[in-house]
Amino acid sequence: MKLLVIGCGGVATVAIHKCCQNPVFTEICIASRTVSKCDALADKLRPTTKAVITTAKVDADSFDSLCELMQKYQPHTVLNVALPYQDLTIMDACLACGANYVDTANYEAEDTDDPQWRAVYEKRCKEKGFTAYFDYSWQWAYQEKFKAAGLTALLGTGFDPGVTSVFTAYALKHYFDEIHTIDILDCNGGDHGYPFATNFNPEINLREVSANGSYWEDGHWVETKPMEIKREYNFDGVGMKDMYLLHHEEIESLAKNIPGVQRIRFFMTFGQSYLMHMNCLQNVGMLSTTPVEFEGREIVPIKFLKALLPDPASLGPRTVGKTNIGCIFTGIKDGKERSIYIYNICDHQEAFKETGAQAVSYTTGVPAMIGTALVASGTWKGAGVFNVEEFDPDPYMDMLNRYGLPWIVDENPVLVD
Ligand code: NDP
Repeated sequence: MKLLVIGCGGVATVAIHKCCQNPVFTEICIASRTVSKCDALADKLRPTTKAVITTAKVDADSFDSLCELMQKYQPHTVLNVALPYQDLTIMDACLACGANYVDTANYEAEDTDDPQWRAVYEKRCKEKGFTAYFDYSWQWAYQEKFKAAGLTALLGTGFDPGVTSVFTAYALKHYFDEIHTIDILDCNGGDHGYPFATNFNPEINLREVSANGSYWEDGHWVETKPMEIKREYNFDGVGMKDMYLLHHEEIESLAKNIPGVQRIRFFMTFGQSYLMHMNCLQNVGMLSTTPVEFEGREIVPIKFLKALLPDPASLGPRTVGKTNIGCIFTGIKDGKERSIYIYNICDHQEAFKETGAQAVSYTTGVPAMIGTALVASGTWKGAGVFNVEEFDPDPYMDMLNRYGLPWIVDENPVLVD
């Protein structure tokens, strides 16, 4: 099966390592903006795999550039591990060239000042009641097009969204008749030794964290100020951490796809140093995406900040500690109340030793490969646009165990108030 991977950053590095371990992928083309990164990864992986690896330069913001490459390479499936800004262009190119589409993050507009985009965004804020810059409406709107083309688009197969959504489908299949509440807990207990750095793309990360929080309750969104809701939790393998309620994209799809769910929240852990730096950067305008004039040229503050911060790819060798990400579910089974917690613990140094990337990229790249493999092999089949929780979770859960992200079910968890 011919796979085209677009992007060659932290997540792509892990996903491609793992694709090389899976015989379903016989040919892999690594394509990105900076082709030298693709060449370096291809050179490293060729001796480890039977898959035929090639590389290419592509501008994923350009439909024409994507189509030119896809018409030449003829991929069966495209794994988009570039940035969420490119989701729609890559989906368009997949439709035009007859390839399945897989990604790990939902569409986000790069220019949030574009009046056309803003008009749609403001309407959605009013109608739906949350103000995040990203939502699934843009990609769900491709449903009929993918159906008509007989192609599959699989959205959000990273860890969160991705594994957390599959954990939900698995809990519903094997542990509950009805799920009432879902708390998604994302804990990064890693330490890279810098006063401030982001574990993945700084633009995406800082925009997500500095935005309003929100959760789903009784059929509607409840929005909170950034970092307004704080809890403490004692994470297995990590210890006690502060965590904060954020808006997160899988809340939207789980609210749609899990019948009867009453509340869905998402919490992420942050240290005090991270929060202090982020607040300060936000207060001085460094997180803005609006261009400013500086010494005769235009710069975008958050892009300039990205250039100053450590490259997330460089954190691998120096990050120690573990991540613990999972979901606590409450609900009903056979008329009785029950609660379970399904989670994975991933060690930064072990991830680095295997792939050259730390656990945040590892926990996203492994499920990116798994979702792609299930589409590529036809195990997950269907024409249209799907979120991962819409398919049978069992083969995915099995592959998590086999490809480096084993999970644990705790049937007596401490709940979050
Ligand atoms: P990186 O910034 O490390 O990598 C992005 C890659 O995309 C780079 O190789 C970059 O090229 C390439 N790229 C960017 N723009 C273009 C373009 N126009 N054309 C071609 N290539 C382009 O990001 P990550 O690896 O950390 O993240 C990848 C994706 O994974 C993101 O969408 C992110 O949101 C998502 N993610 C999902 C998570 C989940 O759990 N679901 C968790 C973490 C991340 P260049 O090298 O030239 O910059």
